[in-house]
Parts: sequence; structure tokens; C-alpha cells
Amino acid sequence: MTTSNVHPFPAIKPGHRLVPAKIESGATSTLIYIECPTWCTEDHLGEPVRAVEDVMHRGDTANLYAPTFGYGAYPVQMHAWVECDPVATDPQFRAAHISVSDAGGNDGSHLTPAMADKLADDMVSMASQLRTLARTARLHNAAGDSDPSMDEALRRIRGGVA
Ligand SMILES: [Zn+2]
Repeated sequence: MTTSNVHPFPAIKPGHRLVPAKIESGATSTLIYIECPTWCTEDHLGEPVRAVEDVMHRGDTANLYAPTFGYGAYPVQMHAWVECDPVATDPQFRAAHISVSDAGGNDGSHLTPAMADKLADDMVSMASQLRTLARTARLHNAAGDSDPSMDEALRRIRGGVA
């Protein structure tokens, strides 16, 4: 028996698995197998692309919804996920990076892991500032139309009763 026509199965890169992907162009539909990062949750079979170079890998989305008592359920939203474009000419897009988008789903920001860490720090800082804003609004509302510091002075004079 000869083994000259036996081709070894290509080794899959660490952190990847082989998954089926559907390529659909016009009436033609082709099933191929692609290397897909283990963090990717994209349905490469259920959501076909027009060409193999259109295959993108995307992970689960982290979401932030700002509620409102005004119009619209969640008019301000922020979504972030890991993605990579295996055939991008720009190595930063080819590498796994973080994409951040708003409610409109427009092409938003693309961040390196270091940039995402910085953004996370900024979000923690903003959360602290948001609590300060809430405190200011709460004090204003509790004081009615008068100056909150005057109210506090009055409260002390009356022995804790405003
Ligand atoms: Zn994938």
C-alpha cells in the first residue's frame, strides 16, 4: 500500500476549532470548514456570507442600557464585543480586538486590548461621577426651591427637623 496520495490533516491553531461555514452567492451555496477562535459565538452556518473573505469572528456582547422616563425604551445604549477579521490588510483589524457600538449599530470604535482596559477605567470613573450627579439631583429635589446648604443650616437650628 502506498501513502503518497495521503495528505496529512492540517494542524489547527491553538485556541481554534474547525467549524462549518456557509458561503452563499446568488443561487450558489457552498459549505466550507474554517478555523474559528474558541471565543467566537458567530453562527457561521446560520448566517451565510457572500464570500469566504467576508467571514468575521465575533464573541458575545457586553451591553449597557441607559433607561429613561422620557421617550423611547433605551435611547442610549453601548455594546462591546471581541472580533477579528482574518483577511484584513490592517494587522490591528486582523488581530482580536474590541469593537464598541451604539444603539444604531453603526461602525463604532475599534480598540486594542490596552485601549479597552483604559476605557474600562474611564467607565469606572464615570460611574463615580454619575453617583455624584445623582446625589446633587437628590439634594436639589429634597430641598425644594431653596439652597440645599440653607436647608441644612435650618435643619441644624431646628434640631434635625427641617
Ligand atoms: Zn468564528
